[in-house]
Amino acid sequence: MVDPVLPSSGLLSPLGLESVRLAPGFWGDRLALDREVIIDHCLEWMEKEGWIANFTGEQPRRGREFSDSEIYKLLEGMAWAGHPGFEELAAVVVQAQEADGYLNTRWSGDRYRDLEWGHELYCYGHLLQAGVARLRTHGEDDFTALVRRAADHVCEVFVEGTRTDGHPCLEMALVELYRSTGAERYLELARRLVERRGLPALGTIPFGPAYFQDDIPVRQARVLRGHAVRALYLASGAVDVAVETGDAELLAAVEAQWERTVARRTHLTGGMGSRHADEAFGDDFELPPDRAYAETCAGIASIMLSHRLLLATGRARYADLAERTMYNVLATAVALDGHSFFYSNPLQVRVAAPAADGMVSHAAAASLRSAWFDVSCCPSNISRTLASLPAYVATTDAGGVQVHHYTPAEVRGAGMALRVETGYPWSGGVRVRVLEGGEGAVSLRVPAWARDAGYSVHRPDDGSPGAAGAAGGQAGPGYLTLPGPWRPGDEIHLDLPTTPRWTRPDHRADALRGTVAVERGPLVYCAESPGDLPPLADIAVRQAPPAEHEADGVVELEVEAGLVTPAPDGWPYDGSPGSPAAGGSTTLRLIPYHRWGNRGPATMRIWLPAD
Ligand SMILES: [Zn+2]
Repeated sequence: MVDPVLPSSGLLSPLGLESVRLAPGFWGDRLALDREVIIDHCLEWMEKEGWIANFTGEQPRRGREFSDSEIYKLLEGMAWAGHPGFEELAAVVVQAQEADGYLNTRWSGDRYRDLEWGHELYCYGHLLQAGVARLRTHGEDDFTALVRRAADHVCEVFVEGTRTDGHPCLEMALVELYRSTGAERYLELARRLVERRGLPALGTIPFGPAYFQDDIPVRQARVLRGHAVRALYLASGAVDVAVETGDAELLAAVEAQWERTVARRTHLTGGMGSRHADEAFGDDFELPPDRAYAETCAGIASIMLSHRLLLATGRARYADLAERTMYNVLATAVALDGHSFFYSNPLQVRVAAPAADGMVSHAAAASLRSAWFDVSCCPSNISRTLASLPAYVATTDAGGVQVHHYTPAEVRGAGMALRVETGYPWSGGVRVRVLEGGEGAVSLRVPAWARDAGYSVHRPDDGSPGAAGAAGGQAGPGYLTLPGPWRPGDEIHLDLPTTPRWTRPDHRADALRGTVAVERGPLVYCAESPGDLPPLADIAVRQAPPAEHEADGVVELEVEAGLVTPAPDGWPYDGSPGSPAAGGSTTLRLIPYHRWGNRGPATMRIWLPAD
């Protein structure tokens, strides 16, 4: 089966990319953008920056110590996308491998000397993931042979001892290679790498051991902490190990970490990470909108973790967070034309700055999207994620098919074929049409935001009025399960309420106190200059129902806001808030957060001061 994650057990099973075809629509369009623009954009920049030529040794090495991993992530994306450039790029990598399987363009001749910062095992992780993608989309070839040699080499060197890598990634890659090849040594090394971390397994660094999750063992940790991408990749690998070894305690530990992280350390967008210095999670409720880091790769890693937990447990909460993160981090991180990307995804931008057009950005926290970065982990990560996006849309189990994400698609599973038609996320109507019938149930996720807001479902074919209200059924809370049998032509109509809603933060989030945000369906909205003035620092919004209007297929909102005047004596700490009414009122236009920054330099904010 062609799919990035293929657990041997779990409540839900993947259907495979070949069984879920995305049609034009919100995600289908982005998948096409990836195939037609993003992959080639990444390829051109890697050539330009010399990262591909590093494998030929014909020039002095260029790029950071982990730049090999970008080529591997791109190869993975090319494999899932069926991109014709795979073989040519893979051939450049193949000729660089050393006789004993070692492969790294930075550390060749100086191996495994700096596991804290060297990223050698991290690079193997992405290499193995590219190999898995090739095995599943094509089968064995020179590249997959290279990958097996590299994996065997790593097993030989690291299976004994106490060492691991500063950047997790290899864990989940080894488990996936085990799933593809059946070679148990890969699973065993993954298990040992997960267990070793926190004993500790790495040397001292200025950021401290929590930076790379080496402060306590995985199964004892209570929350995700430290560098966000590392924490989320490690947790994903731990879930994979737990599923394949039947380790219920380890799985429960990661579930508990996920719960606490979502409850206390996650931005409204689903973004994770609050500290720039070490790209790390902050303390509980340390969620500053303007200093939010929310790296694109952390969003992607969070989607990967939630997907694994969804497959293992069937709990809708994981699909809910994945959806939030897909629409508000993944979709935000790439420009509408596919040629520039966000590295960090703050919830407020105070300075309208021009993009680094055609230049390599040295600032992860730039105001606008950049074509490329000196640390360019995010663009290739976006590329491989969009290429494998159908994997997240639907699953199967013994009882039937579950649809988790609504986007125009054809889904084949449990002997049935379904066509999903919808204008989601702009409208909440979802029509599931049965193309090929069967006996199984069809389960539809009712997103958390819709569960208390009056969704409805009905089957016109049997005249049933259907159900409205609480979702439940055999697929668990959060899923609406409609039993078979189904005949061709049968339909299910699901209506999710997309009325805009005001969202207030937990009062413990200091930086957000006194603010409100607007959400509509799965989308978080924001105010953006230019054009949508007044200055975003001097407003106080009134929480009346926002007005909706559609422009070019995009739903924008309007809210009323008062203009705040300063305190009379010019000193803002006398206890009397400025008066919104005194400064007059205005209408504030809100756009979906994922669309901000596509009209040139702008300031932006999601959390708006409340009247
Ligand atoms: Zn990144």
